[in-house]
Amino acid sequence: MSSGNVYIETFGCQMNELDSELVCGQLRALGYRFTTESSQADVVLYNTCSVREHAEQKVWSRLGELRDRKLTQPGLVVGVLGCMAERDGEDLMRRMPVVDVMCGPGELDKLPALLDNAVRTRASLLAELPEHLNATDVSARQVALQGNTSRRSATLAAAADTLELLDLSRSISPISVGADEGTGEFARRTAYVRITRGCNKFCTYCVVPFTRGAEIHRPPDHIVDECKRLADAGVIEITLLGQTVNHYRFEHGASVMVGGVMQPQKGRTYAGGHRRDPFAGEATTTFADLLARIHDEVPAIQRLRFVTSYPRDFGDDVLEVIRDHPRLCRYLHVPAQSGSDRILKLMNRGYTAAEYTEFLDRARAILDQPEIGRPLMLSGDFIVGFPTETDEDFDATVALVERARYKSAFIFKYSPRPGTVAIDKLADDVPEGVKRSRNNRLLLAQAQISEEIGASLVGTTPQVFVEGLSAKERKRRDRAKPANTPSKIPGGVALTIAGRAASGPAINARDEACCGTKPREEDAQTLPDQVQLTGRTDGDVIVHFDAPPDRAPESMLGCIVPVRITQVRGLSVLGTMAGE
Ligand code: SF4
Repeated sequence: MSSGNVYIETFGCQMNELDSELVCGQLRALGYRFTTESSQADVVLYNTCSVREHAEQKVWSRLGELRDRKLTQPGLVVGVLGCMAERDGEDLMRRMPVVDVMCGPGELDKLPALLDNAVRTRASLLAELPEHLNATDVSARQVALQGNTSRRSATLAAAADTLELLDLSRSISPISVGADEGTGEFARRTAYVRITRGCNKFCTYCVVPFTRGAEIHRPPDHIVDECKRLADAGVIEITLLGQTVNHYRFEHGASVMVGGVMQPQKGRTYAGGHRRDPFAGEATTTFADLLARIHDEVPAIQRLRFVTSYPRDFGDDVLEVIRDHPRLCRYLHVPAQSGSDRILKLMNRGYTAAEYTEFLDRARAILDQPEIGRPLMLSGDFIVGFPTETDEDFDATVALVERARYKSAFIFKYSPRPGTVAIDKLADDVPEGVKRSRNNRLLLAQAQISEEIGASLVGTTPQVFVEGLSAKERKRRDRAKPANTPSKIPGGVALTIAGRAASGPAINARDEACCGTKPREEDAQTLPDQVQLTGRTDGDVIVHFDAPPDRAPESMLGCIVPVRITQVRGLSVLGTMAGE
């Protein structure tokens, strides 16, 4: 049953963006339409994230606004999806009766049925509404949550993994891979593909193992087939997703079919070390095998990358596959979180700073090829002000950042998150002022390194994947057009796609969210009659350049073009299309 216009807004990580895309595809197939304006929607969905407090506050504020709207639009159905729904459970509904539907990230395949029920239930509740209540007092209460205790601890062979069906149902067409439904003007040529779900690491500051469940790995044939179908639809860049993506391993001898569908497998203790996993026999597809398979079997994919890597379990076999397969990107996102062994232990990260830097040295030794214009680029994540962090601990973090020489880093002040181990066991005892000053110091250290890395690219001509208009160009167009007119060209940062607001190519969305790595407005310089575009190198460096006057900027989106780097400006670089 279709119930009119759906508005879906996505918060947080790339995994959430992919979930939203899959949900949109499923609902579209059932006849739902999408709108990019929340005010025109009959169904409003928020796909939420619990990792950052700021994103949660935005959701609470949006829900507060909808409470008022339900007085004038009583039939409006409101849904909270994702990690906030899973973590807070029905408490969220009690606190916010405006919410009709709650659906955890492990239950998204059930969303169409929940929405259908919610529309009917709301209609019948409103028809019988007692006089002393109004439309904001009743909720359709449709709930699908995995529950913290299940964590899929039983073998997945016991039952069909219905969430795999959601991934398999991905309806791949130019629309589903990202055309702007509001304008119908373009189709994205970059896409995410999930290879693992969940996490077994239990870092003490993180809620993901509780909200997304235990780590499981999708069958390689499903993944390769999805990549092929995306390539057939025009995609040329794929990012493989997993919370600990390099843990991927699928044992074919243990594979199980349910209802004719091969089931994902529960993650096992990783035993790869520095070499090929010694327990992986011929009948095992390791992460290195999977990368090689996609590279070789889907040649139309010109760029293949993956996030997020867990530093301890990164084998040389993976690094060698990246080195030997030219369409695999020279880019690794490897969160360290701290440079202090004491803090890493409190975080339960499972490695020391020395083990982390040993990995970086190994990766550089195998992968760094600046002489052929493909230097290895690294990015990291850090939390400052974790409970009990001393000046000495923080100095160790600064030292690690200086040693690692990331091209960018996502740096956050610690805030205790509900549902985590740390909130119960570790007092948030670093004063806010100290957190802020450490945050600023680390940002400054990273900014200096980013600038030096950008300067090292001046004079080179990397290949750049064109993502959209630069932020400055979009602002210029926004000022020039009447209100509410959607842009016909996607921006590099705030792309509006298929009813999703504030989501775009994942890495850009992260840049906007992260502290200090967002390119500055003044970085972009362009003449009034030129259109400035933004793209990324193989190593994920952001490049701004002017579209050549004889080419329509729209025709360049999703293309890979050579750009000669001429200047570094803060955290991004400027260039000129080679041959211009
Ligand atoms: S590795 Fe740690 S931080 Fe990453 S998702 Fe798992 S528990 Fe969270």
